[in-house]
Amino acid sequence: MNTAFLGLGAIGRPMAARLAAAGHTLVVWNRTRERAEQFARDTGASVAASPAEAARNADVVFTCFSTSRDVQSVLDGSDGLLAGLARGAVLVDCTSGDPATSKTIADALAARGVGFLDAPVSGGVSGAEKGTLTVMVGGDAAVLQAVRPAIEAFAGKIVHCGPVGAGDAVKAVNQAFLAIHLLAAAEGLVTLVKQGVDPKVALDVINASSGRSNSSMNLIPERVITRAFPKTFRLALLEKDIGIAAELARQNRVPSPVTQLTADLFRVARGELGEVADHVEVVKMVEQWGGAEIT
Ligand code: NDP
Repeated sequence: MNTAFLGLGAIGRPMAARLAAAGHTLVVWNRTRERAEQFARDTGASVAASPAEAARNADVVFTCFSTSRDVQSVLDGSDGLLAGLARGAVLVDCTSGDPATSKTIADALAARGVGFLDAPVSGGVSGAEKGTLTVMVGGDAAVLQAVRPAIEAFAGKIVHCGPVGAGDAVKAVNQAFLAIHLLAAAEGLVTLVKQGVDPKVALDVINASSGRSNSSMNLIPERVITRAFPKTFRLALLEKDIGIAAELARQNRVPSPVTQLTADLFRVARGELGEVADHVEVVKMVEQWGGAEIT
């Protein structure tokens, strides 16, 4: 297929690389142009000067920006996506976005005969590199069917979740689980360290018991106990995600004190740790509060 990919960040870059490796024609655009040029040197893709130029001959255009608002910001004007997208083309937005903005974007595209899917992903940078991401999709099932061969370049599992916004909603709730599990694991393990229990021994038990999670099974052993804290997914983006989940719960009038409190704690963590910190570094905040390291 003729594809375009906009947004070569931590996860967008390996996703786009999978499209090129799968043999799709690929044009890329990135706000910081040097990243697109480096990507083109590495993969043989072409670089477009604007979102409009990237979209011009594409059957499928992928976006993977920080927020839905960022996607909305590249739609209009002579350089914008709407100026380049042909009738019958599809925009697949892999941003972990918010359902309301995705619906607004979908409506603007529909008025031009362009399809839209919200298609956030899960599985991290390593999943993108291996092509095993889980992709949760909102939008028309027939549109998904048409672009499925392109999405399959980076997906291990593709799930149609419902109408536009449904993919974003499922992603936000998944991220709320991640944020809650991470904080809960940090609090529990700092407590056990101070109680004199080796955290590796504690995790050996917990990971064979009912309290286990991705945080206890993977993130804490691989990134905290080792003190490696690699930068793969910015804490600022997880704060954005749990903010979306908290807002959705409020809009649906669901009492959600755990989600709301965790959203507040991540807002504090973002303020303290900054925009480039990795999400797992929230554990450092809990360690500092408790006065012990999980190691
Ligand atoms: P990064 O911060 O690494 O990259 C963000 C990308 O978006 C960059 O290409 C950036 O361009 C571009 N961008 C941001 N704002 C704008 C804007 N206003 N106009 C144009 N381009 C813009 O983020 P990630 O790649 O980590 O994440 C991207 C999305 O994927 C997020 O929604 C995130 O929540 C989600 N995600 C990330 C995962 C991960 O493991 N990293 C896992 C699953 C989902 P520039 O290079 O110029 O800054």
